[in-house]
Amino acid sequence: MLIKDYQLEVFTPPCEPGAERFSAIAHLTADIREVLPYLNAILRGAVYRPEVPALQWRKAGHYVTFQPNQIAISNVEDREAAIREVEGLIKLVNRTWERRDEIEPNYETRRRPTALELYKLLPRTNCKACGEPSCFVFANKLAAGQVELEQCTPLAEPQYAEQRARLAELLAVDLPAIGPRA
Ligand code: SF4
Repeated sequence: MLIKDYQLEVFTPPCEPGAERFSAIAHLTADIREVLPYLNAILRGAVYRPEVPALQWRKAGHYVTFQPNQIAISNVEDREAAIREVEGLIKLVNRTWERRDEIEPNYETRRRPTALELYKLLPRTNCKACGEPSCFVFANKLAAGQVELEQCTPLAEPQYAEQRARLAELLAVDLPAIGPRA
């Protein structure tokens, strides 16, 4: 087992007073840098930065960062969920380390799509259904990981199926299948 012991810190980021979103950091006694390329190989959409070293990953709207001596998660709905998420991430690291002989490590850094690339694939009707004033604003927030692709509900219309699939591929997210027309 790679991570045997850690100290957990759960807090509300000071930059978001009253936001009621929680962050948690597991301060590790073990150094987990060697597992990062293995996590990079198995975690869809992860961004590995070997020069730091760190691995960033979006998990169901949460932001996760793995560093040699800590695992951090942010944007979690409550304290208990933040604790559960950290425990799950610790298990993930340990399982990955135990299975490392079966995994081809990936040392490459995945490129994040730019806002312009994303914008070109959106419906570009500025309908505001996503809650943003325009598709371009939405594209910028999408590139920054501040909104979810599913918030653009017009994308679920059949005529946008190809663009939707390409966006999901660029962002490395899974989307529910589009149902048949009623
Ligand atoms: S819902 Fe989609 S199409 Fe409408 S403004 Fe937002 S990004 Fe553009």
